[in-house]
Amino acid sequence: MRRSYKYLLRATSKQATALAQCLEDHRQLYNAALEHRHTAYAKAGASIRYGEQSADLKHIRGDDPGGQGRWSFSSQQATLRRLDKAFRAFFDRVKAGRIPGFPRFKGRGWFDTVEWPKDGDGCRWDSQPEHPAATYVRLRGVGHVRVHQHRPVKGRVKTIAVKREGNRWYVVLSCDDVPAEPLPATGAAAGIDMGVASLVTTSDGEHLANPRHLAATAERLETTQRALSRKKRGSKRRRKVVARVAALHGKVRRQRLDYAHNAALALVRDYDLIVHEDLPITNMTRSASGTIEAPGRNVAAKAGLNRSILDAGWGVFLTILAHKAESAGRELIAVNPAGTSRTCARCGHCAKENRVTQAEFACTACGHAAHADVNAAVNILRAGLALRRASEAA
Ligand SMILES: [Zn+2]
Repeated sequence: MRRSYKYLLRATSKQATALAQCLEDHRQLYNAALEHRHTAYAKAGASIRYGEQSADLKHIRGDDPGGQGRWSFSSQQATLRRLDKAFRAFFDRVKAGRIPGFPRFKGRGWFDTVEWPKDGDGCRWDSQPEHPAATYVRLRGVGHVRVHQHRPVKGRVKTIAVKREGNRWYVVLSCDDVPAEPLPATGAAAGIDMGVASLVTTSDGEHLANPRHLAATAERLETTQRALSRKKRGSKRRRKVVARVAALHGKVRRQRLDYAHNAALALVRDYDLIVHEDLPITNMTRSASGTIEAPGRNVAAKAGLNRSILDAGWGVFLTILAHKAESAGRELIAVNPAGTSRTCARCGHCAKENRVTQAEFACTACGHAAHADVNAAVNILRAGLALRRASEAA
């Protein structure tokens, strides 16, 4: 199993300065490489590949020993690879006929991560193992930085990244071969319906509501973003508001993650089998941006829904649920959600009239009445069990 860990760094002020320089130099390298590709394409129609840019690195480092030459060759290569990935995605979008969006120059504040692709190469996790109490990570050009390790690392450290969030620095480890920690069987199975009012509703009738504090932060974020549009570019006040927007985004992300972790953990503890809808979340959010032939079709109608989808954080939740289920040895099944919200869970009668309101379900055939999300969750569970029986029989 693969897993990632994120810890706060307790950098000294000297190390924090070095980390900021390291990030800034990587940002400039990214922008210079982008400029290079851009010019070559505009002037000669030539496309430059990662291999050439990586070969140029040696000279860039040699010419600038006190600058670019201070950092790890591998983390710089990872930065160039990141640009390469952005270009590939750009060409894929062109090919697919969608609005392409040329890769952008990264302004200060829009480049927050440096990655070292291999532990031991320009970086070292647990660099002072003989230290009795503290854990350190060594980064080339920065030194041994103390880590606030609030939980142990399991498995083998593969990549190490440093990330700036506001004025905090974090180290993110990606580990391979993390052993699973199976939970005892409960003999219970559940279907889950995902929505906006409740992030998750189970077939047992439990509602895990989207937390209010998340909505409150989202509201403050919206107000602050509006204030931002009224501030003059380059002004001191604008910079302050930009920092506040970034901090609020960070807060929303943390709150959503926390909540998704707790909700997923609760489900995984209670059920051996969890069935969820196979939601095309990326497609649903993508269609609002339109295509070249039909720019921004349905944008107004879709924007509200997309917003709520993103706010509800289904994608984040499902990703976390999948990780936890794998680690705990639980079974997760995705089913096609078609009809699950309109079909009666008792008699199977399917009609859109069954859905009285967003929250109420009342079958026009047998009179079965239930909370609409619970009714859907029961259908989802049934569909999952049927899929499993079919695959066992095959
Ligand atoms: Zn019915």
